[in-house]
Amino acid sequence: MTSRRGFRLAVATLLFVTATGIQIVGASPSTNAILGQGNRLGLERDLGFLASDATQGRDNDTPGSTLAQNYLIGELKHFAVGANTSSTGDDAFKQPMPGGTNIVAMIPGRAPTNEYVLVGAHYDHLGNGCRSSDPNDDVCNGATDNAAGVANVLSIGREIAQRPGAPRRTVVLAFWDREEDGLLGSAFYVRNPLVPLAQTVGYVNYDIQGANLLPSLERDTFAIGAETGGARLQSLVRSSAQHGPLDTHSLSAIFGENRSDYVNLIGAGVPTVFYSDATGPCYHTAQDGIRAVDFWKLGFEARMGLQTVEGLVDGARPSFSGSNPLATYGDAVALQPTVNKAMADIGRFSMSDRSTLLQLRADVNRIVAEGPANFDSADVGTMLGEAAAVVQILNSGPCAGFQKPGN
Ligand SMILES: [Zn+2]
Repeated sequence: MTSRRGFRLAVATLLFVTATGIQIVGASPSTNAILGQGNRLGLERDLGFLASDATQGRDNDTPGSTLAQNYLIGELKHFAVGANTSSTGDDAFKQPMPGGTNIVAMIPGRAPTNEYVLVGAHYDHLGNGCRSSDPNDDVCNGATDNAAGVANVLSIGREIAQRPGAPRRTVVLAFWDREEDGLLGSAFYVRNPLVPLAQTVGYVNYDIQGANLLPSLERDTFAIGAETGGARLQSLVRSSAQHGPLDTHSLSAIFGENRSDYVNLIGAGVPTVFYSDATGPCYHTAQDGIRAVDFWKLGFEARMGLQTVEGLVDGARPSFSGSNPLATYGDAVALQPTVNKAMADIGRFSMSDRSTLLQLRADVNRIVAEGPANFDSADVGTMLGEAAAVVQILNSGPCAGFQKPGN
């Protein structure tokens, strides 16, 4: 996820951070089955490498970035082919760009394939020297931002590739570089697409995964911007979210604050959904390492995205509907359970931050109670302004309580 610099309108996504060990004592058999699947799909292994100190924070154009690229290509070669047909060998997986390299692979669909489903996550991060509570640790490992999103995309690719028969549509797996510099990798791709954007039926973006905004929100996550694919994509996201125990809240594109690659694909006219846990207290700190990852949550998030990708691969094509330029009554309904649940953690905040949180809760509850017929532009301004203020509060607290000692 990129910083808020340059974003004018204050908007917000509510986000969270959890950390649960992978072994869940007392988990139900179905939960353990899904966790087992997450492990089989390699989430821990991929995260363990990409977020290790070896890659030195995966800043673009560094030896650590090259290590991450080589890891991705080594994994992708098992089940996909390079999408850059102007190169051969490992280079076919690379899309060089000024100051960096996107990694892009394809799982070919059934011939004659002329439609594509794009799944992506940025693999770059901040390198060294971000905010740290430990003077001996200056590596910005970017575990939840966004090694976790990368691991989810890899796991989806592995799962699609091992299904019997080729997928109906070609699946394109994209790992963007230079997201942290202002979404530059995905911006380069939409100017230089490796498959036609007009035949790209949908884009699933992952950024900030396996993270908790607050201890009270460890089951909560967000699906942003599905209105860009109209009723078809919205219903697909809704049904994807019904698998597993997470509470997935659908918000309009503006709640992503233009802070991740999803916005470039929307700008290119591709129906897009952006799965995110939003930015909590570990965001852009050196403590966003493997111990900050909630693998329990991550496994379900990988499955949710897989459901969405499978629906896009095999089902009806969504039509592009643009994004909502403003918040909607539906956004208030989606935010309501989150802001009310978050009150369990109100004691973590200063008196002035508490009053901001309480004001948002009061206004969201009021807006929902007044009903859709009374939703007006004043409500839009209230929601966007207050939600943006709350996002600032949520990613400014200490990360310490969000670490999972078992990882
Ligand atoms: Zn980031």
